Amino acid sequence: MAAAAGAGLVLAPRLAHAASGPIEVTRLTDTVAVFGGAGGNVLAVTGPDGVVLVNGGSPERSAALLEAVAAHAPGRRVTTIINTDWHPEQTGSNEALGKAGAAIVAHEHTRQYLAREMFVEWRHARYRARPGALPTRTTRTDGVVMAGAERIEYRPLGQAHTDGDLGVFLPQSNVLVTGDLMTVGAYPIGDYTSGGWLGGMVTAAKAMLDLTNDATRIVPGVGPVQARADLQATHEMLSAMRERIAKMMRQGMGASEMLAAGVSKDFDARWGAPDVFMATAYRGMWLHVREIGGVV
Ligand SMILES: [Zn+2]
Repeated sequence: MAAAAGAGLVLAPRLAHAASGPIEVTRLTDTVAVFGGAGGNVLAVTGPDGVVLVNGGSPERSAALLEAVAAHAPGRRVTTIINTDWHPEQTGSNEALGKAGAAIVAHEHTRQYLAREMFVEWRHARYRARPGALPTRTTRTDGVVMAGAERIEYRPLGQAHTDGDLGVFLPQSNVLVTGDLMTVGAYPIGDYTSGGWLGGMVTAAKAMLDLTNDATRIVPGVGPVQARADLQATHEMLSAMRERIAKMMRQGMGASEMLAAGVSKDFDARWGAPDVFMATAYRGMWLHVREIGGVV
């Protein structure tokens, strides 16, 4: 079924993830900063005993990122890295940090995906992490990592962007890291190859939204720091697209026909080219066809 769904669609490279040039640092508080330009956004929390990272950028950008982190927190080593999902844009520093003795925290499913060869839709390429990149501490439930007095809370997001997503919230600093559930200037992808799908992304976006208030600073998978209204807009777009795609599936339409009918037209100005989003969303929806109802 999945092989037939969306066949014939050309998957364009996801340009938002292409990263070169300098690593850019945005300070959110005295101890919390975001590093951009590393492939995916990286959050660094500096404590008296070391630095905790949320995500590690892509393998290609790992050396530049870790150099920037070292310059940002001189004399302190990275003690822990949390992966929000298995994709190379988040796990690219696992190997280097693991070798240096850092704990690598991730969902158990993330470890399983990193232990085998995977296909990355937007890179249009296979990816296999090196053995040293595997998480050393895995979870299926909520947990906390401390950086000094700062609580860094992580929680599984169910079947969302993948089925190994962790959302990360810092209640004291009021900072939320969504991972790739939210991306700026590009549609967030439900990666059906690792258990992600649009319906689960809607649920996860709502759960993330419920953690925030108007003062929350939200770190998306890629792009600049966002506000609650932006996450709200993401949630509304995902909800609308889930309903539209389900309705069109009930009418027997394929992903190409939906695109031709302008299914995402009113959202494209904000989120860009919908091709990869639609191809993955459509395939993911077929894997949940019973939940959607009325299609077959
Ligand atoms: Zn991802």
